[in-house]
Amino acid sequence: MMGIKCSLCKKYKPIFKRPYSGEILCSKCFSKTFIKRIVKTISRYNMLHFNDKIGVAVSGGKDSLTLLHVLYEIEKKFPQSQLLAITIDEGIEGYREESLKIATDACKKLGIKHIITSFKEAYGKTLDEMIKISQEKNIFISPCTLCGILRRHLLFHKAKDLNLDVLATAHTLDDIVQTYFLNILRGDVNIFEKAISYEKPRLITPFRLMPEKEVALYAHLKGYYLQSVPCKYAYSSARNFVRNFLIQYEENYPGTLYTALHVFEKIKLTEKQEIRKEKCIICGENSSRKICRVCEILSKFDLKTNF
Ligand code: SF4
Ligand code: ZN
Repeated sequence: MMGIKCSLCKKYKPIFKRPYSGEILCSKCFSKTFIKRIVKTISRYNMLHFNDKIGVAVSGGKDSLTLLHVLYEIEKKFPQSQLLAITIDEGIEGYREESLKIATDACKKLGIKHIITSFKEAYGKTLDEMIKISQEKNIFISPCTLCGILRRHLLFHKAKDLNLDVLATAHTLDDIVQTYFLNILRGDVNIFEKAISYEKPRLITPFRLMPEKEVALYAHLKGYYLQSVPCKYAYSSARNFVRNFLIQYEENYPGTLYTALHVFEKIKLTEKQEIRKEKCIICGENSSRKICRVCEILSKFDLKTNF
């Protein structure tokens, strides 16, 4: 990009080209437009109100760390709002220790209240212990499915316990489109109700229009301390196949992820009325089945929630 200037300020050397919009941006303009686009997303989906009590799910990874910093900047302008962070310690040896420390340090630096809770406390076993049991008892469930379902369950429980209005997660455009595809491939007919929830706590995803690449670049430019150890179970994830396919597709056909999200959101609106809502006969939570996934998993593992 020798001699070329940023397409916004026309002053500085560009460091990034947005393939789907054609913009070529310097680091300052990239960061500015990044925040602007998150604010726009929040208002487009009416995600936040001026006096919300907001919990951010912070794993300590680059996406959630960035979300915490961005919401901190945005919410500074709304003194009646409250912001706190929730971290779930799944109990993954050699992985969680580092990200827990990163999350704790970030919250300390920003002066944000940090709630840490664990699978061990909530369910009596760590993820590592559950995976060992699944191998011994031939319970066929992938570590990421187990981890994802229980983490979401515990996050919601904590959010309710803390009387939060909003639970914010750092799912990016890539994550959300991957989830839609995964749901289709798994034959989950209720893909449409998982985008945004309107019940308290409202589940919001302020990065839903932001490609993961741009979140990573923002985190890098801001110099956030990022995790060096990957999770040892990541290899087993079906999501990886879908992620790799979508990354390649997006590289060849920029803008595909936006198009896909747009289509899925449209289906969500038109099909919304058709979705069957039931209550789990064990825990009473909303579910599309008689026994929800959480209760099904806990009974397979002979576990109970401690709350
Ligand atoms: Fe959990 Fe899978 Fe992520 Fe590891 S890679 S933290 S097991 S969802
Ligand atoms: Zn249940």
